[in-house]
Amino acid sequence: MRKRIVILGGGTGGTLTANRLRRVYSSEEAEIVVVDEDDDHIYQPGLLFVPFGLAELREITRSRHRQFHDGIVFRQVAVDRVELENQRVFLSDGNSLDYDVLVVATGSTLLPEETEGLSGPGWMEKVFTFYSPAGAAGLQEALTYFDGGRLVVNVVDLPIKCPVAPLEFCFLADWYFHQLGLRDRVELTYVTPLDSAFTKPVASRTLGGLLAEKNVKLVTEFNTGSVDGTGGRLTSYDEREVPFDLAVIVPLHGGAAYVGRSPGLGDELGFVTVDEHTLQSKVAPNVFAIGDAAGVPTSKAGSVTHFEGEVLVENIHRFLDGKPLDASFDGHTNCFIETGFDKALLIDFNYDTEPLPGHFPGRVGLPLLKESRFNHLGKLMFQWMYWHSLLPGRDIPGIGSEMPERGKVREAVR
Ligand SMILES: Cc1cc2nc3c(=O)[nH]c(=O)nc-3n(C[C@H](O)[C@H](O)[C@H](O)COP(=O)(O)OP(=O)(O)OC[C@H]3O[C@@H](n4cnc5c(N)ncnc54)[C@H](O)[C@@H]3O)c2cc1C
Repeated sequence: MRKRIVILGGGTGGTLTANRLRRVYSSEEAEIVVVDEDDDHIYQPGLLFVPFGLAELREITRSRHRQFHDGIVFRQVAVDRVELENQRVFLSDGNSLDYDVLVVATGSTLLPEETEGLSGPGWMEKVFTFYSPAGAAGLQEALTYFDGGRLVVNVVDLPIKCPVAPLEFCFLADWYFHQLGLRDRVELTYVTPLDSAFTKPVASRTLGGLLAEKNVKLVTEFNTGSVDGTGGRLTSYDEREVPFDLAVIVPLHGGAAYVGRSPGLGDELGFVTVDEHTLQSKVAPNVFAIGDAAGVPTSKAGSVTHFEGEVLVENIHRFLDGKPLDASFDGHTNCFIETGFDKALLIDFNYDTEPLPGHFPGRVGLPLLKESRFNHLGKLMFQWMYWHSLLPGRDIPGIGSEMPERGKVREAVR
């Protein structure tokens, strides 16, 4: 009997899942329906470059429905809620969709209103985020008028998408002001809730070292309680203050709001509770999650979403065939970290292995945790791979979903 697979969200995860599934199932075997509220697919890693005039929104945005292979049904409408017990999705236009398998791929949502003052006076004037298209474009304009003063980059709390992006912003800001001959007039500060520059110790040492080398002040264990956008001040819950003339904030993230209206589907932050190795929901066996929407203990990143896709599609196949699931997703994450001056670092890790030095994907390859021009070129090339390989659901030769052990220098942990 023909099955219906409904995919909520047509971003990175939803698109690559639909396209991979289309190759596994003919239209007679399975109807594949993707639901998304808009038709603008944004290459989000490109948002980092917009404030510095290195990319434009129109260059990183494509039609969402055009990314789907033939035979995939696209419904442009918002999801209102899911009823797990009836296997039904309710849509904001009053219609509903029944499913045999549901894939939640609605990513994460920015919640600036959750931090006192953040979206109040000064928002989009002196306080910006580059995590949204409007914020990245607004910040680009603000930076053209900024000719000196205190620029503060602040992560309110984790989890966030691409946890290295705020550090990349600091490195690029250092480069940007150097180019303009303004660097000695700008005080750059990175304010994080963590106790060091990054979550993992070895990478933290390298990234903290780079911040120091580039004269970016690091303020740690700062839990932002409020933002005063007109007075120019971040205040932590323990009443420490960081003054600014321009603030670049990464707001709190949560899952899509409808997850909270769908009993049993998600956790208190709105992320879907799934097994971290199979990506199957812990409460409904015919529900899976991919990408930022999945409550798994790894980074919220496009690379993770891509690696998850292979295991997810295999597991939907196995589930529909009544076979045991493949529990091989290992949390593999791979991120280029732009460091300015046409250089970048690369990190590669999983649930059990922190980012280590060495090379990727084997003993010969791109340098890990080390600045190089090759890594910068890799970062730039990633956009092409995103549209032409990742989203169409193609495998990248030599790069599997499992983290490669070869090439990593484990002695560095000491
Ligand atoms: C500034 C920035 C830089 C980044 N840099 C990198 C990087 O260098 N490398 C990397 O690997 N990753 C990077 N990422 C992260 C990466 O973009 C995301 O992790 C990835 O896109 C997640 O894919 P997803 O499918 O889970 O979510 P998304 O691609 O965000 O897709 C979610 C979709 O769900 C839809 N949706 C949400 N709610 C509803 C609803 N109620 N009804 C209908 N549709 C809904 C949205 O419209 C959206 O299309 C970056 C992200 C940002 C913001």
